[in-house]
Parts: sequence; structure tokens; C-alpha cells
Amino acid sequence: MAIATINPATGETIKIFEPLKDAEIASKLDLAGQTFQHYRQTSFYQRSQWLEKAAIILEQEKADFAKLITLEMGKPYQAAIAEVEKCALVCNYYAEYAPSFLADVTVKTDASHSFVRYQPMGVILAVMPWNFPFWQVFRFAAPTLMAGNVGLLKHASNVPQCALAIADIIHRAGFPQGAFQTLLIGAAKVADVMADDRVKAATLTGSEPAGASLAAAAGKQIKKTVLELGGSDPFIVLESGDLETAVVTATTARMLNNGQSCIAAKRFIIAESIATEFEKLLSEKFLALKVGDPMEPDTDLGPLATPDILQDLDQQVQSAINSGGKVLIGGSPLSHRPGNFYPPTIITDIPPDSAIAQEEFFGPVALLFRVPNIDAAIQLANATPFGLGASAWTNNHQERDRLIAEIEAGAVFINSMVKSDPRLPFGGIKRSGYGRELSIQGIHEFVNVKTVWLK
Ligand code: NDP
Repeated sequence: MAIATINPATGETIKIFEPLKDAEIASKLDLAGQTFQHYRQTSFYQRSQWLEKAAIILEQEKADFAKLITLEMGKPYQAAIAEVEKCALVCNYYAEYAPSFLADVTVKTDASHSFVRYQPMGVILAVMPWNFPFWQVFRFAAPTLMAGNVGLLKHASNVPQCALAIADIIHRAGFPQGAFQTLLIGAAKVADVMADDRVKAATLTGSEPAGASLAAAAGKQIKKTVLELGGSDPFIVLESGDLETAVVTATTARMLNNGQSCIAAKRFIIAESIATEFEKLLSEKFLALKVGDPMEPDTDLGPLATPDILQDLDQQVQSAINSGGKVLIGGSPLSHRPGNFYPPTIITDIPPDSAIAQEEFFGPVALLFRVPNIDAAIQLANATPFGLGASAWTNNHQERDRLIAEIEAGAVFINSMVKSDPRLPFGGIKRSGYGRELSIQGIHEFVNVKTVWLK
């Protein structure tokens, strides 16, 4: 895959980048390794000041960064603005709380004093996706830099200008040049970087094959990884739930980021007694969405990020139809215009045990399932290889407690859509990955938890 900016709304190639040569990669690794030796000595106070400055730059220049995001991956401009603002939030969050998250923790033992100290590990590699090209990186960079590590970013090949802009922001904020660098390299080079002695650990957000490949390369070197992979999140509505609010939220939760979010609601599991009404209301909401140029302020749904994503989604919809699914609305690409546009689509009647029902649909396609009761709802919610998030709608306490206890996922949101928040841990189980980002758990992923025992 070429490293290039290609406008997904028009198909126009804007800029092509030469991948780094081996010698250039080596010199960036050198700089990262050398920088770690002095960067690790900087104080929390100093790192916090730099991170707060990064937040100020993000806020001040959010219009420019948002345009870049929309240009490279097609999300509506207002959503891109919100993404940049959230990056400023995570910078300020870790600037404030990292010192306490990483403070020594005294543990009473038979020693005269014993405690836990959190120390940086070194160079951490981040392999990141295009769907939230700023947010995914800042939620890695903020805790990593506060912990005293240095970062190397291998961003997705379709968002190179976002990748370069992020490294520039961090440098302009005051961090040393080598504290955070972008590597413009293809996926095939990642295993070599992982094998370099200076790289101590890695995090990847993306597809299962990419995650498995990075984890295998890291495993060969006995290096830690955090993986945040796909999801096929259930959105359960039970009879006691607030139907109208659920439908409004379902629309937002499915269409977020043009449908390309790991925590988007993808499988709508609806109690039989309210399913016909839910289908009708959801169809109305989907049909009211404005599909178009993502730079226009009133656009709800822009293009998919790449022609491959569009093609994959189209094939999945065809498989769903071939398996017995019925298309309520949408169902084929918008071929009358350039760009990677796919309309809001609803499919019902897919057999829950069909192979296609196990897959993640990375686009504006909702799969609707009907269930007779909460037992069937929970069983279906858990019947995929994924376990990232789940949203469930109920006003019954017993139902709520069962959903929290029995849903296999890294997060359960009751009467709300699944979302990330710097204050709460984020991550999955099963084939959605392992490890956590954000909150105190996120910053503890890439530190040496050192036990100290004094006689
Ligand atoms: P990928 O997983 O291919 O890309 C994500 C990142 O991983 C990119 O930086 C990519 O680099 C890199 N990568 C790809 N293959 C490897 C590899 N073998 N070793 C190391 N790094 C690798 O996602 P796609 O863009 O192809 O999207 C495909 C599907 O992945 C989506 O349909 C969706 O299901 C899932 N996905 C999930 C995301 C999430 O948020 N969890 C985000 C994006 C995708 P390069 O761009 O150079 O190939």
C-alpha cells in the first residue's frame, strides 16, 4: 500500500510520500534510543508542562488539524474537530494525573520499607489505524511520554500527513526531537523495527491479522504488546428500555465515524415485542441522514476511508444477503458519484449462526436480530469471537445486573452508547485484543513495575 494522501470523497491523489530507507529508519531508532537516556531523567513537572502545551496547540489549531483528518480519511469535519478537542483533553488529563498514577506505592511487609516504583521501559512502538488518526495516537502518546518512555509512530499508510502533524505538535510543545517520531514505513517493515533491541514494547490498534502479526514478531523477542482490535459490539434493547432514546442513540452509535469505529454498535439485538417498531424508527432515522462531502457542515455521513474498505463492506453485505438476510434500506455502494460512498443500510433476518453474523462490518451497516427474552439476548451478544464493548437498554434492575455480569466484553454501557473516556480503561477481551488504554490502567501498561525491598 502506497504511503499517500488520497481524498476518499473524490478519489484524488493529493500527495505521495517516499517510505523511509533502512538507513533513515536506523537513524531514527538511534535518536529514539539516545533520547530515552536523558528524557527519562526529566521531571513529571516538565513533562506535564510540555503536554499542556501540546493541548494548547491542539486547541488553537484544531481547524487545520480537522481539515487534514477529513481530507485523509473522510470523517465529517465537525467530528474531526471533536476528535482534536478530545486529544487536548487526554493530554491535560495525563498532565494532571500521571504523577499520582506513577507515584511510589508503599506495601507493608516484613521489610523495614517495601514499595512499588513505576519506571519507564524505553522506546515504545505504536502501530496505529486511520479511523481516529489523531485520537488513537494521542491516547498512546500522552501516557507514554508522561511515563518517561519515548514513542515511535508507524501510522496507517493513508494518513501520512496526520502522522507528520502529530510528531510536529509534540515537538513544538517542547518535547525533545527524539521523544516522539513518525516512521513513514509500510507494514512489512514493522517486524524489523520490533526486533530492534532499543524497542521494548508495542501497541497496535487495527485488524486481527495486523495484531496477530505484530504480537508474533514481539513474541519472538519476548516483548510486551497491547492490542486493540476489532469489535462487533451488540446493542441490546429490551422491552423495559426507553425505545425512542435507544433509536436515536443507535443511529449515532452505528454511524459514528462513517461507521468505521471499533466500538460502533454493529449488531442490534431487539426484544421481539418491540422489534417491528424499532426497525421502523431506525429506518426513518437512517434515511434522514445526509450523505455527502465531509467538509460540508451539515453532512452526517461521509465516504469510507479507502476503496478496499468499501469493497470489503459491499462483499459482506452480499454474503449477508446470500445467507438469508433481507435489506430494509441501502444495500449497495453509491456508484453515481466519485469517492468511497456507502449509504446507511439495515439488514434483518441474518441467521445468527451464519458465518457472516460473526464478522465485523466496518461501515454504516446495521444488522438487526430479534430475540424472545434476555437469555437469548445475552447468548446472541456473546456469540461472536469479539469482546470489545456492549450497549444495553433496560429499566429493570435485575436485567441490568445480569447484563453487566454476563456480557463478555471489555465494557458494558447501560442506557448509553459505548464511548471512550480518558478517565476509564478501554480495551477488549477474546479476539478484540488485550491490555488496556487510558486511565490509570493504560499508563501502567508500559512501565517496569519494580519491587523495592529495604532491610
Ligand atoms: P489494518 O489492521 O491493516 O491497519 C492498521 C495498522 O496496522 C496500520 O498502521 C497498518 O499499516 C498496520 N498493519 C497492517 N498489517 C500489518 C502487519 N502485518 N504488521 C504490522 N502492522 C500492520 O487495518 P485496515 O486499514 O486494513 O482495516 C481493515 C480492518 O481492520 C477494518 O475493516 C476493521 O475491521 C479493522 N480495523 C479496526 C480498527 C480499530 O479501531 N480496532 C481500526 C482500523 C481497522 P498500513 O496502513 O501500512 O497497512
